[in-house]
Amino acid sequence: MSAVVVLPPDVARKIAAGEVIERPVSVVKELVENSLDAEADSIRIEIEAGGTSLIRVADNGCGMNREDAVLCFERHSTSKIRSEEDLERIATLGFRGEALPSIAAVSLLTMKTSDGGSAAGTLLVLRPGERPEVRDTAFPRGTCVEVRDLFFNLPARRKFLRSETAEMNLIARYVRSIALAHPRTGFFLSHGRRELLHWPPVAGLRYRFIQSQGLEAVGRLLEIGHAEGESEVAGFVSRPPIGRGDKSEQHFYVNRRPVRDRLLQAALNQAFQGLLEKNSHPEAFLFLRHPPRGVDVNVHPAKAEVRFLDSQAVFRLILRSVEQAVRTERGVKIWETSVGAVREGSPAAFRPEEGDAPGKAPAAPLFPNEAADRAPAFRILGQYLETYILVADEEGLLVIDQHNAHEKVLFEEFRRAQASGTMPRKQTLVPLLFDVSPDRSLLLEEHASVLEEAEFRVESLGGRTFSLKEYPDLMTAEEAMSALPALLDDLQARPGEDRMTRLLAGLACKAAVKAGQPLSKEKMEVLVDALFKLPQHGLCPHGRPILLRFSRDEIERGLKRPSN
Ligand code: ADP
Ligand code: MG
Repeated sequence: MSAVVVLPPDVARKIAAGEVIERPVSVVKELVENSLDAEADSIRIEIEAGGTSLIRVADNGCGMNREDAVLCFERHSTSKIRSEEDLERIATLGFRGEALPSIAAVSLLTMKTSDGGSAAGTLLVLRPGERPEVRDTAFPRGTCVEVRDLFFNLPARRKFLRSETAEMNLIARYVRSIALAHPRTGFFLSHGRRELLHWPPVAGLRYRFIQSQGLEAVGRLLEIGHAEGESEVAGFVSRPPIGRGDKSEQHFYVNRRPVRDRLLQAALNQAFQGLLEKNSHPEAFLFLRHPPRGVDVNVHPAKAEVRFLDSQAVFRLILRSVEQAVRTERGVKIWETSVGAVREGSPAAFRPEEGDAPGKAPAAPLFPNEAADRAPAFRILGQYLETYILVADEEGLLVIDQHNAHEKVLFEEFRRAQASGTMPRKQTLVPLLFDVSPDRSLLLEEHASVLEEAEFRVESLGGRTFSLKEYPDLMTAEEAMSALPALLDDLQARPGEDRMTRLLAGLACKAAVKAGQPLSKEKMEVLVDALFKLPQHGLCPHGRPILLRFSRDEIERGLKRPSN
């Protein structure tokens, strides 16, 4: 065997394609990188059968005109670099101009694209070895690439793919990892009819981090942030001495590109030297921003590895950034605006702790819309155990449960205000974020409008994280946050039950004065007066009795006093 032949272009193309496109996740990666380079703020990824039957990536980025759309399937055609020098300062994720021709060589590909100009959008249909079919199509600014039957013409490669589930797991892992570094871009990923990820665009890394890892991780980890010269490190690392049993959660990014890198790993380990429990490893999400001319990203076919021009400087930078946070146990305090730490003014509702001085009018209108009729005459005798209000009226003695009574009054008030659409609302001053379990997250999305009617406006940040935007002006932000879980349970009302009633009852319960709180005489008066004005005041909204009555008769008989 001695004759050297030049391979037919068909075969050569397949071999070359194999370098870049190894499995379905490689296609997803190349297409998503293109969408990010096109500055899309929304990327929608739909997969079928683990990517073997369909991979569809749609973006709203810059799109292409007809000429570029056709040209981009030529090998080494790229808009991202022009010359060899450009290779030394790559700021985009792609630059080789190989991906699209490689994918097209091993699949059935269609692309719709438009740069949003006046000319029609372009539809391209490509089959390996055939001339592309080009047509007009109506398409908004952006690009949608559909890759069907991957490796249909490379049976050997197709045979080596893992199960659909395994291939899908690789895709999901990749999408999560790239999306983490691009918070301003919204990501959507589905497999068949299953939605796997839905992260709307957010303002910055820390919100995307919450979408990805949940609020719990933020409490568990330390945030780091450190800049030196033109370089900057940000991210999250373990809070000593708690680490992980394995190294699976060590994620490194260089200029928003996920990378594997021994140097970065070594710096991380050194920073944690002697700080973690035995046999445990640091968890880390590290984002390095570094001048492109100081990084060579052209050293690995999938661009998963990089080389630094001054690796020692990078090592020291990472070491110092992480050390600074973990050695002082300080981290960067950015989370003080999250759940529970904020109190945004006091509620308009009844607050026993505020202004209870005798003679002072109740601070806020307790029941702003009292019914006009007068309550029957009564006299406050005092408070017992800071839980019961003792009252005398014409018929005898009353022991009133202060919590149940207030709850009932608020409930009726809420119901009236809700029905007439006059319940006052307040906006949160800072984002109040919370995580819920997956089933509750569905519930929340499903019932957003019911909550809205009860004056709670909650916005999804995608996944299990939500942000409270508005809440009834009867409670503090803290109370609103702590009322939410109970409200969610109330949403799961049994069929036939009125959701709104349960919800308002839950709210009233949260907002009502508790047992064990001292009340001024004035407050007790206002409360009992409001209670007595209600047509029925025997039972609280949850069906517990509100008061016990001892008639004058009963008292006199009990004390064996001759009645007159
Ligand atoms: P590279 O990304 O290395 O430049 P590709 O083969 O991935 O090479 O893409 C070739 C060219 O096609 C890109 O340089 C870009 O100009 C254009 N392109 C590809 N995908 C998109 C997209 N989603 N939106 C806009 N332009 C795109
Ligand atoms: Mg590319």
